Amino acid sequence: MPSRFAPSTTGQAHPGTLLAALLCWLDARSRGDRLLLRFEDLDPTRSQDIYLDQMRRDLEWFGLDWDQVVVQSDLADQHRNALDQLQAQGRLYPCRCTRSERRRSGRRSLDGGFAYANTCRDRPLPNGGWRAAREPVRLRLDDGPIRIIDESGADLSQNPAYDMGDPIVVRRDRAVAYHLAVVVDDGASQIDRIVRGRDLAPSTATQVVLQQLLGQSRPSYRHHLLFLEPRGDKLAKFHGAVGTAELRRHYRAAQLCGTIAWAAGLRDRDLPCRPGELLAEFSWHRVGTGDRVLVWRNDQLIVLS
Ligand SMILES: [Zn+2]
Repeated sequence: MPSRFAPSTTGQAHPGTLLAALLCWLDARSRGDRLLLRFEDLDPTRSQDIYLDQMRRDLEWFGLDWDQVVVQSDLADQHRNALDQLQAQGRLYPCRCTRSERRRSGRRSLDGGFAYANTCRDRPLPNGGWRAAREPVRLRLDDGPIRIIDESGADLSQNPAYDMGDPIVVRRDRAVAYHLAVVVDDGASQIDRIVRGRDLAPSTATQVVLQQLLGQSRPSYRHHLLFLEPRGDKLAKFHGAVGTAELRRHYRAAQLCGTIAWAAGLRDRDLPCRPGELLAEFSWHRVGTGDRVLVWRNDQLIVLS
């Protein structure tokens, strides 16, 4: 059963990246599954190769290893094939509706944004199809409920066509959009188990529909806790969460792993350890269910709550 860890290369790894990588690794290794590291580098404005190289080294330093490393941009042909397939089903249409237009529609989506009201569904693609479109391209979803309970017991059931709205599959800058790329890449690597942070849980139903439309089978899902900033946002690169360059100046790998494992509930005390030492006693029952709040203060990672 292959599974994957799929960070985006839009910044350095931070404590939240390491938590997600560690949990994915422990899950796969404790089950004897194959584990891929997939760099998601399709965002042309924010992705940088320098982050890819650095992240690869930092994850190795932290004590994690992979059976295969995949770079998302290498799968461009398969992304285009999937778009052709969806176009042949008559599901693609151009849409230049902006975020502020969606906000005016006023319906919140489950990911905290605004649902798209499928306003432009009747607009045709230009001659030449999605390749010739000069606007973002969306995918028409069928109306109807998708029932998903993930392995942690979280109910992720949705009617994605209504709750989220038709997703963008080709962005304004011509990059293939997140949902489509993730589903195609998982299919290409025959991923049948997905372990990831619960910030991505609301996108699961849309991705399951995409799997169906592309004739792929549905992987099993497990979503886990997040590390948050004091104001409640997910720790993230663009909020200036402490990166590995700074962490490595002040922490040895085993010290950092010990703190992250303790914050995640994997150990009772904050003592140095390597990921391999956590394997024998790893079980999802040990992993905390509540998110944790972390700050970087006086060159130390402090768990506030
Ligand atoms: Zn539109």
